[in-house]
Amino acid sequence: MNRPKQARNPDRLQYLTSAVDLQGCPEDTVPEVAFVGRSNAGKSTLINGIAGARIAQTSSTPGKTTMLNFYSSKHYRLVDMPGYGFSARSGDQQASWKDMIEPYLATRGNLVGLVIIMDIRRDWTKDEQDLVDWFGPRDLPMGIVLTKADKLSKTEIAERAEAMKADTGCDDVLVTSSLKKTGFEDVEEFIFHTFIKVGET
Ligand code: GDP
Repeated sequence: MNRPKQARNPDRLQYLTSAVDLQGCPEDTVPEVAFVGRSNAGKSTLINGIAGARIAQTSSTPGKTTMLNFYSSKHYRLVDMPGYGFSARSGDQQASWKDMIEPYLATRGNLVGLVIIMDIRRDWTKDEQDLVDWFGPRDLPMGIVLTKADKLSKTEIAERAEAMKADTGCDDVLVTSSLKKTGFEDVEEFIFHTFIKVGET
């Protein structure tokens, strides 16, 4: 609990590159984990929390939400996808989903898993279910991270996490708070053990 922040993983995540299409993605030699979530879900904050440093720009930065942003550490990359939400998306957002995100999620050979990031106060909707149904044929593991746990009481957090498991059928529901700096190591460990499997015998 009191160990120094950088001690467990000296190979912290760092910003690698951004791409606007599949051709612009880095070489597919390292396992990649896709992070998807609505705008404002807390995706960038989560990436910064895992990195232990400000490597991802938060949503007020123009342009960053239209690209695939790659972050790398020794064993894997995180790929930050632009926000989704079919009904709410503008023409531009729909185009980037069709031209960039769908091809990436459907065909990227080194993609090993998907993490859906949600504000803990939001319900699972048809948008998330559509995404999961669409992604289903790839048969890759998935996890859900509920952010902003500091907005709720301990009891409410437990209730929301259980409700999410029941609604989605996904048992891998993790909870984080950037204010309290909690849950980031759990997410990192989940990524390693479920997607990357480094260190497992
Ligand atoms: P993104 O659009 O999904 O990348 O979301 P951001 O990471 O930019 O976060 C959106 C807003 O939510 C920002 O104002 C963050 O400071 C805030 N936020 C993110 N995570 C947390 C959290 O765990 N607790 C609280 N209270 N606010 C958070």
